[in-house]
Amino acid sequence: MNLICKIKFVKATSLFILSLLGSLGCATPQKATWMAPVQSEEYPLDNESRKYSGKTKCPVMLLVDYEGTTIPYASPVKVNPFFREKLIHFELLVAEVGKRTMGVAPAKLHHMGTLNCRPIRGGNTLSEHAFANAIDVSGFTFNLPNGQSKTFYVKRDWFGNGAVFFAELTRALASRPDIFRIILGPGNQGHDDHLHLDMSPSRYIDVLIP
Ligand SMILES: [Zn+2]
Repeated sequence: MNLICKIKFVKATSLFILSLLGSLGCATPQKATWMAPVQSEEYPLDNESRKYSGKTKCPVMLLVDYEGTTIPYASPVKVNPFFREKLIHFELLVAEVGKRTMGVAPAKLHHMGTLNCRPIRGGNTLSEHAFANAIDVSGFTFNLPNGQSKTFYVKRDWFGNGAVFFAELTRALASRPDIFRIILGPGNQGHDDHLHLDMSPSRYIDVLIP
């Protein structure tokens, strides 16, 4: 194993570092953290107030039912219409990574929900889930060309059978701040069983790339 592959914690200010580590084929998980100003286009929910005092106050907003365009969802979700557009692009990206690593796009997306009126743990800032501006993805099912069906769960397969797919997916997502600005996954407290993806006004990535 070369020296760069021994680095377990990487504070990347550039996606170049992420892609470099990927191209080296490192076998050890790479901690990828990245905070940077948002450089993608303005998003309609950027100016919503997330701060509150006293009892949790959740915004009243229009929500739409959604169950996937390119990749069907295991169950329908309620999302902000602006976030639905992000999910459509997300599915195209997942399909591309699936074809590249598994030979097929996933046939199903498993999730732990979108809408949840709650603050970010231990604070008085609303979670993006309060705006239905976030999704918790727990896994994907592939119907393989050989007739087998295979499901990769974040919790069970992130560092195991699903490692190649999940690593490629994480790198692909990190290179697309126009889709999601926040990526939290295994290695970040409370995210060992799902990928949290949202369109918060700020950019932050914290995940162990398998
Ligand atoms: Zn979440």
